[in-house]
Amino acid sequence: MCGILGIYGYDDVAPDLVVGLSALQHRGQDAAGLVTFEHKFHAEKALGLVGQVARERGLEEMKGSCGIGHVRYATRGRNDVLNAQPMLVDEPLAIAMAHNGNVNNFEELEQRFAGSARAVLETSCDLELILQVFAHALDKRVHLQLRVDDIFAAVQATQEQVEGAYAAITAIAEQGFLGFNDPHGLRPLVLGRKESAQGPIYAFASESACFDSLGFQLLRDLEPGEAVFIDKERRLHSRILRQAAQAFCVFEYIYFAREASRIYGRSVASERVELGRMLATPVREAGLKPDIVIDVPSSAYFYASGLAEELGVPYRRGLSKSPHAGRSFILPTQAERERLVRQKMNPIADVLRGKKVAVVDDSIVRGTTSRHLVKKLRESGAKEVYFISASPPIKHPCIYGIDMSIKREMIAANASVDEVSAQIGADAVVYQRLEDLRSRAGELKFCDACFSGAYPTQPSLEIMAGIERERREVKAEMS
Ligand code: AMP
Repeated sequence: MCGILGIYGYDDVAPDLVVGLSALQHRGQDAAGLVTFEHKFHAEKALGLVGQVARERGLEEMKGSCGIGHVRYATRGRNDVLNAQPMLVDEPLAIAMAHNGNVNNFEELEQRFAGSARAVLETSCDLELILQVFAHALDKRVHLQLRVDDIFAAVQATQEQVEGAYAAITAIAEQGFLGFNDPHGLRPLVLGRKESAQGPIYAFASESACFDSLGFQLLRDLEPGEAVFIDKERRLHSRILRQAAQAFCVFEYIYFAREASRIYGRSVASERVELGRMLATPVREAGLKPDIVIDVPSSAYFYASGLAEELGVPYRRGLSKSPHAGRSFILPTQAERERLVRQKMNPIADVLRGKKVAVVDDSIVRGTTSRHLVKKLRESGAKEVYFISASPPIKHPCIYGIDMSIKREMIAANASVDEVSAQIGADAVVYQRLEDLRSRAGELKFCDACFSGAYPTQPSLEIMAGIERERREVKAEMS
């Protein structure tokens, strides 16, 4: 999972890219990068947070009215600076690109390029393949005066050849600024605009939350298979090129997106409150009568408040999270993950003592967080602990760019709900029901493959195995 942002239309966009990417930092903390264009591309990339990159490298050189940036959460390739984004090519035109997603036919495309004289792949990041496919497709159509149709044809060729999930933004030197996504629209990409004395200014971003900090108005989400191109006169062109059934990642609503973002017209916070309310039915049916509802900070607050309201039980803050702790989930070994989970959450004993506690989290993946918290809550005096997951059991690997690609690590993949409860030491575990989650979808069609195993792109077993193998190898190397 990653965050992307591009801005086109006023001098020196670099400082605003840093501000906007900081608002997307929850989507990736492994590496960050910025590229701006003025006569030529200026690029800065490094491991770490976007503020660090800006401070260490300085932005003085980064002039230009067009820029794109990226925050990385590695789900393909090692976490080294070579794999950081954006990436550049200089033929047939100078092009900079950044993406969020995961290419599924990586090996097939890699082999195809291995035999080609022009493209020597330099990284193990899947963006390089998207960029090469796009550049090759554009190469076939480059005229002195590149037309909008040529750009759209190159996007379409890319969508035809690249399988998987991707939302990409691209700066094409002296031509304009482009955003496009895969035919199913698996990953989020929004378009924003603000007015200036010189005309409209456009931005693409993974989430609208970053527009608030930059004064952009959210125009809309890109449709599945759509490309939007802003030309050098800043006219907007849009076209749906290769569209398949919509399959937007439901985990964006569940965990990844910030509460302040709007996706496809819906507030992420309000969706979470509704999902929290829906949990009241399975909680009641399980015969549970908690005294208080608490959340696992910070992503589960809205679920917990919705559930508490619906049950008519007080919501309390029973856990305090260290604001400076990193993400335990992405650490390579179980021992490191457990150490960080221990460090980052402190129970508030006065709230918990003698109570039957329903503790709500957005999800249970390996069970590391839940197992540890149940123990802590008991040690702090909770009489009974019910662990409530706002998502259904996660049983199938994600091949679309969420770091859940190793099936044997998933606690619910081979265990019943009672077994999960026993393994994490809870008095009960309650999951959101998949049919309830689906009932929220309405017009919007979700990808819920991590719960259902229904993958919209219908990958072969070989592709699935290849993705899992790659992740296992990278994690083994890191440990
Ligand atoms: P686990 O501890 O392995 O059961 O993972 C569940 C915890 O990790 C929950 O607290 C989630 O908020 C968080 N989480 C779930 N999915 C992800 C993900 N793909 N990346 C980072 N954190 C996640």
